[in-house]
Amino acid sequence: MADEDTTLQELKEWVARFRDERDWRRYHNPKDLAVSISIEAAELLEVFQWRNQKEVEAMLRRDGLRKVKAELADVIVYCVSLADILKIDLSEAISEKMRENSEKYPVSKTKGEYKKYTEL
Ligand SMILES: [Mg+2]
Repeated sequence: MADEDTTLQELKEWVARFRDERDWRRYHNPKDLAVSISIEAAELLEVFQWRNQKEVEAMLRRDGLRKVKAELADVIVYCVSLADILKIDLSEAISEKMRENSEKYPVSKTKGEYKKYTEL
């Protein structure tokens, strides 16, 4: 599988099938999935904790990228699960958010700037 030939719908179905084969749907409620996203995001942060930029780069060249990949996948699996049970179309949600971001951060005001839109 690769990003080029996999749709979000296919990932959604795969994650739901994994969940349903184990009869875990009853545990997958919006609150616990949101909690799980946050826990996995914290595990992603843990990979970088206490390391400066140079140490992060060295860690990523060693086995760190494998850890980042695994934790990032955990985050995304829970995001896909939450979208599935709430019937959120992720492509629609992401395109709406990107449209909003484009309005908040017009290129003319933000190119090369990292300020939040409220500070522009
Ligand atoms: Mg994890």
